[in-house]
Amino acid sequence: MKRREFIKLSGVGATLAIGSPWLSAADAPAAKASVIAQPMREIPVIAEADVAVCGGGPAGISAACCAARHGAKVILLERWPSVGGMATNALVNIWHTSDRTKQVITGFIQEAIDRGGRFVRRMADYPKRPETHEFDSTGMRVVLHSMLKDAGVRTICNVMVVESVRDGDRLRAVVVDTKRGRKAVCGKIFIDATGDGDIAANAGLPFDFGRPGDGGVQGMTMMFRLRGLDAAAVKANPNEADRVFALMKKLRNEGKFPQFLEGAALSYLRSPRDPVVSYNMCPVAGNPLDEEELTRISAQAREQVYAYVDLWRKEMPGFEKAEVEQMGFSLGIRESRRIRGLKTLDAQMVVKAVKQLDAIGHGFWMIDIHDPKGTGHTTWVDQKADMMPPVGDSYHIPLGMCLNSQVPNLAVVGRCASATHEAHASVRLQSHCMVMGQGVGTCAAMALQGGMDMAKVDIGKLHTQLRKDGVYLENVPEVPSGQL
Ligand SMILES: Cc1cc2nc3c(=O)[nH]c(=O)nc-3n(C[C@H](O)[C@H](O)[C@H](O)COP(=O)(O)OP(=O)(O)OC[C@H]3O[C@@H](n4cnc5c(N)ncnc54)[C@H](O)[C@@H]3O)c2cc1C
Repeated sequence: MKRREFIKLSGVGATLAIGSPWLSAADAPAAKASVIAQPMREIPVIAEADVAVCGGGPAGISAACCAARHGAKVILLERWPSVGGMATNALVNIWHTSDRTKQVITGFIQEAIDRGGRFVRRMADYPKRPETHEFDSTGMRVVLHSMLKDAGVRTICNVMVVESVRDGDRLRAVVVDTKRGRKAVCGKIFIDATGDGDIAANAGLPFDFGRPGDGGVQGMTMMFRLRGLDAAAVKANPNEADRVFALMKKLRNEGKFPQFLEGAALSYLRSPRDPVVSYNMCPVAGNPLDEEELTRISAQAREQVYAYVDLWRKEMPGFEKAEVEQMGFSLGIRESRRIRGLKTLDAQMVVKAVKQLDAIGHGFWMIDIHDPKGTGHTTWVDQKADMMPPVGDSYHIPLGMCLNSQVPNLAVVGRCASATHEAHASVRLQSHCMVMGQGVGTCAAMALQGGMDMAKVDIGKLHTQLRKDGVYLENVPEVPSGQL
């Protein structure tokens, strides 16, 4: 389908024709639907930014703050009422910063940890496990908003970016839907941090969706928290957790109980978590870009959570008074579009801890693929291959996975940056996404100062600036010419 719409951008004086080449194979049924034609209309420009960041998750917040701190006039556009993305609105509340011997992700995430105060706690065995900090998603909303404010970022929530307006090979503006109609935001540089690559896909950049073969994206999860648990009663009945777990499996195998993530469920039954800790055990599968399917599976996931809790209240000592304290405002979404960049991170780069000339930070997480069919099973273990870099080592996250060859003033950060299905399963972690945000946000500000495109920024100078800003950046190979 080729949908055409004409927008006159007032304040810019150009009438631009924009197509919508962002349909994937998954949109095929919609493509057969009938269409309506829209008359040309003027869209008011509400901002002219140096850097427009679309999406306010971990990647977008870090990109926006870092670009603003280096002198850029930054606007951040977020569709939900608060920033934080999956970290706040899907209750995904664990940060990973360690290669299992030392902390190797620092910089922006360390600032968020320090600013987090009582909302963040360091885990007891730090830094011996990748997981190093857990936080209260509700309090973190306040922390992240205040970081943006202090950096001087103009943050607008409740706006959905719906169109990318290109002029030749440059992105001129994005169009947002608001309660008061459509508006446009112009910018010199755009950073797509939507998690789904909405802006880049709409601007015509090629992308991949899901795994090779059937295009299945990683399973999604409804996170939830419980209150009213009696830990002493659980402890006093040490065999009950295993009995209830076996019952859950039996009922599920008979088709009388929903899917659940086995290892996590058993662990929660054996040692119930306090109400700040999110339960990560409720899987569902589907296409997160199909709004109707997403509605259906989100509703299904909420029912699944109550199916678990109802059984536990009946069967598990200590859970008799369990209540759902909170569920994700959104289903936790792991994967959708991955926008093809100058470089594509792959599984070998991850597990072999490959170092890159254009490194912007380190990553170490395993190839953590949640079954696209929604069983909750982690599938890479079936390959019997290495899952993560060796203990004490880490791979480099390259700038090139965030830049592209077609629209030089557009970068992509976060879980929609360029990676294979396997490598994405590692680099999608929030800490890794913040590394991308900090690297690209800083690069964008340097590009503006130098009057050049982001790909032309001297990589050595970028490394110097990132290190000055607290980023751990070690073992970077020599760049002969300073430029990539
Ligand atoms: C269940 C689950 C458990 C996980 N566990 C962990 C974990 O323990 N630790 C960890 O670090 N990571 C974990 N992850 C992964 C991690 O949370 C995500 O990969 C990460 O949040 C990605 O960050 P992001 O900024 O790229 O995208 P997101 O967090 O998805 O943020 C994207 C933001 O963009 C906004 N947006 C989207 N489209 C538009 C648009 N068109 N216009 C305006 N705004 C838009 C969204 O509303 C959102 O705020 C988990 C993920 C899931 C789903």
